[in-house]
Amino acid sequence: MTIIESILRRCTAITHVKQLQAQMITSGIFQNCPSRTKLVELCAVSPAGNLDYACDLFRQIEEPVTNDWNAIIRDLAQSEQPKQAIGWYLAMIRWPHRPDALTCSFALKSYARVLALIEGKQIHAQLVRFGFEADVRLQTTVLDLYAKCGDLDCVEQVFDEMPLRDVTTWNALVTGLAQGSRPRDALALFSRMRLKGARPNEITVIGALSACSQLGTLKEGEAVRSYMCEEGLDTNLRVCNALIDMYAKCGSIDGALDVFCSMGTRSRVTWNTIIMALAMHGRGPHAVELFTQIRPTGVEPDAVTYLAVLCACNHAGLVDDGLRLFNDMTGSGVAPNIKHYGCIVDLLGRAGRLDEAYSIIISMHLPPDIVLWQSLLGACKTYKNVELAECASQQLSAMGSNSDGDYVLMSNVYAAHERWDDVGRVREAMKSNDVRKVPGFSFIEMNGVIHKFVNGDHGHSDWKEIYGMLDEIGFRIKAFGYLPRTDFVLHDIGEEEKENALFYHSEKLAVAYGLVRTESGAPIQVIKNLRICGDCHDVIKLVSKIYDREIVVRDRSRFHRFTDGSCSCGDYW
Ligand code: ZN
Ligand code: ZN
Repeated sequence: MTIIESILRRCTAITHVKQLQAQMITSGIFQNCPSRTKLVELCAVSPAGNLDYACDLFRQIEEPVTNDWNAIIRDLAQSEQPKQAIGWYLAMIRWPHRPDALTCSFALKSYARVLALIEGKQIHAQLVRFGFEADVRLQTTVLDLYAKCGDLDCVEQVFDEMPLRDVTTWNALVTGLAQGSRPRDALALFSRMRLKGARPNEITVIGALSACSQLGTLKEGEAVRSYMCEEGLDTNLRVCNALIDMYAKCGSIDGALDVFCSMGTRSRVTWNTIIMALAMHGRGPHAVELFTQIRPTGVEPDAVTYLAVLCACNHAGLVDDGLRLFNDMTGSGVAPNIKHYGCIVDLLGRAGRLDEAYSIIISMHLPPDIVLWQSLLGACKTYKNVELAECASQQLSAMGSNSDGDYVLMSNVYAAHERWDDVGRVREAMKSNDVRKVPGFSFIEMNGVIHKFVNGDHGHSDWKEIYGMLDEIGFRIKAFGYLPRTDFVLHDIGEEEKENALFYHSEKLAVAYGLVRTESGAPIQVIKNLRICGDCHDVIKLVSKIYDREIVVRDRSRFHRFTDGSCSCGDYW
């Protein structure tokens, strides 16, 4: 480490960096290549550094060389602003010095991060022109770009042309695809790897397990696990944590608990994962019980652990435990962030303790966000509290939230008090404000194919069968005393229309498709991007009884396992 490096690493404020730079200027070494490049490079990563200042430093360099460019492009490529890295790269190639292999790899990484396939391909072409194509690390970066952008044909082409391949290259791909939210492609690649005789290692397995978690496909997750056993791959801590997560997200909390219990050593991540898993499955008391076991093992709970256990309390309505843990948290020096506040406000709100929820919001040391006010508004709807609902709704519009859900809740609060003028006013506001609707969708996987549904969807090739099934369901559940929960739609349409709007919700379509296409008695699993609505919840409970099916719906925040007419959440979510 040079003197400059060691001084820079000790800089704790940007003024120190500036002093150092002034020193370098007066002693005449600022324009010397290695020192100034180091200054630019380290400026971004040192505790005091910042990227804007690094960019300023760069601009003061009279004759930048490739290394200077690389320093700044690398810093930006790793930062929150990969687009800026691209801008600097484009500026560089207009200069007389050409990029080297490093520059190309930083540019490729930036393009991969913003998923710019075409521009990435251009750099790939440049690599060939500059003669860098034999560099295995660069090839891996190119593969990663194609994988993240989902161009599997290019992936295979590059891979087949690679002179040297190692397990790292693969790994990068499977993990890249899983992280790039292309879980289906990640799994396809994982099986292709196995067919071609490559031996995936622990990192690949974790990538594949994470893909299964995203898809919620237990069968494939278990296949990855048995493959690991067959190959005698190490089941170390990280693999076990990934297994717990996979089982939990694929609906098998028992599988997750089995893995957890079999583990000799448990890290904080292990505890966090299992407590979050129990939370998602509505096992509040069990989560609280496990939480008490953490400290005796020598692990200190962190903000994530507290969030997990507070979520568990929230999903199970454990108000007293939740409040106790929230206080315990602040007492142990873990500062609550906006998500912890979100949990506790939601917990109090659902329990009808609206005033307490409100006083927590207004006494927070952070500015409350939209989610907090929305959960208070939701609670006001349940408990028909006009005054607080109006307050929450005003805050929401002041914060620029313009979601259809807010308007529906507000109008429902007024409707509950038969204040029809106000209902009309909300409806008008909704029309004139061009309200943003978050599109709800649900999907179900059948033999490796994902079928996605939006509300009132007629786009599926089997839509006639699906709607036929929904008619049958509608007919049969009425005999069980089903009444449509029309308060889940706006009060501005006729009763019959409301029932129709409800009856074609995406989760109902997905469940109906499951009933049509799977063998009788087979479990049905559906994933929804938003919270499941109350009416769908009622209907699916009845469907599980009438058709004798286990139906699992994973929504934005948790699992609902419906069997024999009831749900694992105990109707509390
Ligand atoms: Zn619904
Ligand atoms: Zn439920």
